[in-house]
Parts: sequence; structure tokens; C-alpha cells
Amino acid sequence: MPKTRFQALAASQKREYKNIDESGRRSELFGRQVFNEEKMLQFLTKEAFDNVKSAIFQGNKIDRKIADQVAEGMKAWALSMGATHYTHWFQPLTGATAEKHDAFFDVLPEGRAMEKFGGAQLVQQEPDASSFPSGGIRNTFEARGYTAWDPTSPAFLYKTTLCIPTIFVAYTGEALDNKAPLLRALHAVDQAATGVAQYFDKNVRKVYATLGWEQEYFLVDKALAQSRLDLTMTGRTLVGNFSAKGQQLDDHYFGVIPPRVLSFMSDLEKQCTQLGIPVKTRHNEVAPNQFELAPVFEEANLSVDHNLLLMDVMEEVASRHHFKVLFHEKPFAGINGSGKHNNWSLATDTGVNLLSPGTTPMKNLQFLTFFVNTIKAVDTYEELLRSSIASASNDHRLGANEAPPPILSIFIGKQLSDVLDELEGVSKGKLSPEEKTELKLNVVGKIPEILLDNTDRNRTSPFAFTGNKFEMRGVGSRMNCAKPMTVLNTIMAKQLTDFKKEVDALIDKKNLKKDEAVFNVLREYIKTSKRIRFEGDGYGMEWQEEARRRKLSFNTNTPEALQVITAKESVELFKEMDVMSDVELKARQEVELGAYIFHIQIEGRVLGEMVYNHIVPAAIRYQNLLLENIGGLKEVYGAAHKKVAESQLNLLEQVGEHILEIKKLTDEMTDARKRANGLSTINKKAQAYCNNVKPYFDTIREQSDKLEKLIADDLWPFTKYREILFTK
Ligand code: ADP
Ligand code: MG
Repeated sequence: MPKTRFQALAASQKREYKNIDESGRRSELFGRQVFNEEKMLQFLTKEAFDNVKSAIFQGNKIDRKIADQVAEGMKAWALSMGATHYTHWFQPLTGATAEKHDAFFDVLPEGRAMEKFGGAQLVQQEPDASSFPSGGIRNTFEARGYTAWDPTSPAFLYKTTLCIPTIFVAYTGEALDNKAPLLRALHAVDQAATGVAQYFDKNVRKVYATLGWEQEYFLVDKALAQSRLDLTMTGRTLVGNFSAKGQQLDDHYFGVIPPRVLSFMSDLEKQCTQLGIPVKTRHNEVAPNQFELAPVFEEANLSVDHNLLLMDVMEEVASRHHFKVLFHEKPFAGINGSGKHNNWSLATDTGVNLLSPGTTPMKNLQFLTFFVNTIKAVDTYEELLRSSIASASNDHRLGANEAPPPILSIFIGKQLSDVLDELEGVSKGKLSPEEKTELKLNVVGKIPEILLDNTDRNRTSPFAFTGNKFEMRGVGSRMNCAKPMTVLNTIMAKQLTDFKKEVDALIDKKNLKKDEAVFNVLREYIKTSKRIRFEGDGYGMEWQEEARRRKLSFNTNTPEALQVITAKESVELFKEMDVMSDVELKARQEVELGAYIFHIQIEGRVLGEMVYNHIVPAAIRYQNLLLENIGGLKEVYGAAHKKVAESQLNLLEQVGEHILEIKKLTDEMTDARKRANGLSTINKKAQAYCNNVKPYFDTIREQSDKLEKLIADDLWPFTKYREILFTK
């Protein structure tokens, strides 16, 4: 009998839920563990405080003397909160977070000990960390990596460690992480968007990108998760017969949250609130044991940090509640996977959401300007945006009738489509007074009313306008949002830069008024970006054909999707916007391809182990059981046993056939892996893993699932879907 499975089942049935102390208001807990403005006022000198504020707002450098003061203040606060260590917290290209703790404690030459932390330790560190993927940057340049303080994301205390958000770069300047390019992209979009926003309001000094993510995840009992080799090693189940009941009844979606889960959620939210993560919404998702958590949106860099921190905290809190949290995009076949919608907009320092229609025609022209420019940016760089959400695990989800397809398109709804149609008819050059009045009253003026009842939402669209923001829906649940956010904000920066040049040229050279010039440029954008707009069903086959006719990219797998990163247009874009050099782009492409190969390779190896060491032996045990029975029947019935043992003989044959087939397929897969490993370039390897290795996963699984259906329950080695998905 497979001990692990039954011991795990027994353990999972004994769980009790913890009572979480919910006394005290969340608003009072909020940010308790964050070195935020309130703490800075208390622990910093006026000079240091002003310097940090201006570093946050204007990106000014903080000099060494001030850094010492800030470090002193941070240390005092952290020690008062019981901290013992500090760490530079960074985001290497693995997609996760990394940290290396140092104690505040130090021994002075005369032997006395004290807590030390100065500007030098705050501003820069050399964690070595040479084992993180760098895509060749560090070998080529023999460059050491160092982490540098990002003052725009406040330091926070996690347990007894002061965590300082940092970028991770090579001494030669190349980014070795996901944060540095994001910060550069945010700077680029700030500059470009501020220039455009000033057409409408001279007081605008800064534009922020805003991000509100929605984190989906699964919770399964820890013992049950651990009982499965595939879940433990790859984050998803590689085999498993579908349970009779899945999500057909929709009885989980938005249903009553199970008490044990609710207790986990309360505990988690309390931790998050103290860490300054503004968590707000929680609910059951579509699949059994699937849930979602969403915060209030924030400035994009901070929001990205908060999402990464959340995922770390979730793993830890889940473990305390005897759960394992699954962030994989497709942990179970046959039921929905998990995504992380990225809601995005641009906001000014004067408090205006640039993608929110206003109350005056001028405000609405501003809205239309940013709205149409977003459409144009996504149209021009759709393939690049698609590449930013490519990963081995997200490949399972995109286009799988539960998530948007890998074809980028934009949904804006009928009413806004009508508005754009009208704007397309605006005259070239100067506008007559009548046309201006008509535009003001009947087109631009009507937008707020229109949006109020514009409630239709197309859930199949990968990039949808949802009233006052765009929602990017293809992002995977375990991804670092910095990747799509870097691309989105870079392409927006480029688009707004071009837009401003064109409008200024019309004003200067053609003597057009500002609003006339804006209308003229928008009209052309609306005309030339039509192919990206799609209001229909993104899941249908017709759309795939239509998208091909429109010449939209259709990259169904990661190796294909990653190619565009080093295309000439991409290299030029990132260079012009000062976000990434060709070396950095090449490195990223290599790291992503490498990660893809490793993921498929690991899955292949784990699947091999499952087949050879667990599935086939279980099937043989069942064969023996049948043989024993048939042998016994033969002893009793003699030649007549064939009739009484008919079913057993039939079962014996079926089991034998599946053993033969699964063994053959697994041998073939192993060979395909060996051949892939022998290929010379990383691109060829990734393609071979994708096209020659991965297809075996499905056929092997099919054989395993058939065996699972046949074999006696007490002999099956892996915890079953129905056991994992329905324990409360
Ligand atoms: P959905 O219908 O997609 O589930 P929700 O209301 O759950 O919508 O989620 C909306 C998300 O959008 C929230 O995370 C919220 O913080 C975010 N959001 C709202 N306004 C903005 C904005 N201006 N910029 C970025 N994100 C926003
Ligand atoms: Mg959403």
C-alpha cells in the first residue's frame, strides 16, 4: 500500500483551523512595519527627510552624509521594533526575490559589541550572488554584481529583518534584475507623459504609472501537496485522472469561504496590512480550492514590490496553516488555472487619472489622448507585449479557454468604439467653428455619460479598457509583474514621445491650435491602429484566422514568443527610451530561454521518475493481484475458469497494454530529451524541448490516467485529484 498517500490523507483530515485575533482596526495596523513618511518624520532630521522626499519625487541622488543620517534613523526605528538583521532585498532574473541577511551586531576593535548600520551599508552592497542567471552579462564583462538602494520603495521590517528594496546591477551598469529596467521605464513614461499632460494642465510636474494586480492562487493541504512528487518539484500535477466533480456546478466561485481558508486569509491580511500592502478584496475563484486576493492600486514600482512580498508572505502564512499555496499558472488539468490581471493607468502628481474621463471637454480630450495613444502603442508593439508574459507555465494557460489567447488585442466596448469612429471623421488641418462645437458637445462632451452605462465587459480580451484603466489579463499568476510593466510603460513612453513631436510640429509648422493639432494626430492613430481593436470572442477559431489576416502575431509558445526581444525594432525602442541596451535584452532573452528549458527538463525528469518508479510498479502490483485471483479460479474451475475469470483476464490485458505503452512513451521522451540536450544553441534547445519533448507529457499522462482509472484505489501511489481539491 502506498504509505505516503494514505498517511497524508489521514493527516489532512485532522486539521483544525486557527482563530485569528481580529480585534483592532486594520487602518491602525496599516504600515506598522514600514519605514514610511510618518516614521521618517519621527526618525530623520529635517534635512535627511527632505532629501529622501526629493529623491523619491525627482530622482535626485542622495549624498553620503545624508545616507548616513537616513541609515541612522532607519536603524533606530528598526531596533526599536526588535530587528536584529538587515538585508538588501532584490529581484534577480529568476523572477522571485532574493535576500542575504547581515546582523546589525558588530564587534569593535577593542572587543566591545554594538549595533552598526551606516550609509555605506544602506546605499550599496555586494552580495556576490554570482549564481543568479545573468544571461552572460557577468561572464562577458567579468563584472561583479551589486545591489543599490531604491528610495522610492520604503524599507520594511519582515519578522526581525529590516528589508531594503534594491536594484541589482553589474558594475558595468547592466541590470541583472527585474527592478532596474522597470524603474527606467517608469522614468521614461513619466517624462513623456508629463510633456503631454502639460498640454492640458501646466501644473503637472510628474506622471506615475499605477498598477493594481489581482493575485489568483490555489490552496491545498500541505501534507497532500507533499505527498505528490510532481507538485513538490514542478508546482503542478503531471498526471491525475480528473475528478468526477470539478468546477461544473460553479458551486465554489464566490461561494462561502471555507473556515480554514478564511482563517488563513485573515492571518495573511493582517501581516500584509502591517507590511503596508493595501489588501482589499478576497474571494473564491472558479476552480475548487482556488482563490483571489486584490489590493488597492499603487504606484507601479511599489505595487510590484508589494506583489512579490505578498507571494513570499503567503507561502509562509500558508505553511503555518498547514496549506501549500500554488502559484503555478496551471497546477491541475481540466479545471481553470491562475492568472494575475494587471490593471494599469497613468496618474498625475495633481491627482488626475489620465485614463479617466473628466467633466469638461478639455479633460475628455486629455482622456482621449492617453486612451488613443495606449491603443496605438499596443498596436505597434503587440508582439513585444506578448513576449513579456511568456513562460513555460503560462503557456498552459494562454488560449486555454479560461484565459485570453496569446494574440494581443484591445477591447474598448461599443460606446468608445463609436466615439473613435466619429473622431476618425475629423477634418484634416484646421477645424471649422461648427466642427469644433459639434466635437465638444456631441463627441468629447458625451464621454462621461457613455462610460457610466458602459458595463459590457469582454472577459476573453487580453487587454481591455474597464472604465478608467486598462486591464492586462494574460499575466501569469507566478510572474513578476515588473516584466509586463516594463514593456507596457516603455512602449507608452515611446508612443507619447512621438505623439508630442507630431503635435508640436503641427502647432509650429502648420499653425494649428493645440486642440486642432491633437485631434489631427489622434485621427491618424485611430485609422492606423484599427487592427488591434477586437470586440468579439477571443476564444473562437474565427478570431485566430481573422488575427492572421490582420497580421497580428500569434506566438503559441514561449520559445517563439521570446524571439522578438532582440528584433531590430525592440532594440531601437529600448535604446531610445533608455530602458535597456542590446546587451541587456540579449541577456534577458537568454535567461528566459534557459528558464524555459530547465522547466521542461525538470518536468520531463520528474515524469520519468513517476512512471518508472511509481506508476509501472503499481500497475504490476495490480497485475499480480489479478494473476493470483485468476490462478485461484483456475485451480477451482479448471478449464472452465476462462468464463468466470473473463473480466479479470480482460483487465489483465488492458493493464498490460498500458504498461507497455507508457513505458515506451517514457523511453522515447527520455531519448528526445537527450537529443535536445545535445543541440548547440539555446534557441534550438528550447525549440526542441517545446516541440519534441513536451508533447510526450500529454500522451504519457493519458496512459497514466487510464491506469489510475483501472487500478485498485489502495494501490494507486499518488494522491488523487478529488482528494487534493476537495479537502477543506
Ligand atoms: P475585476 O472585475 O477585474 O475582478 P476588481 O474590481 O476586482 O476587477 O479589480 C480591479 C483592480 O483594479 C483592483 O486591484 C484595483 O486596485 C485596480 N485599479 C483600480 N483603479 C486603478 C487605476 N487607476 N490604476 C491601476 N489599477 C487600478
Ligand atoms: Mg480583473
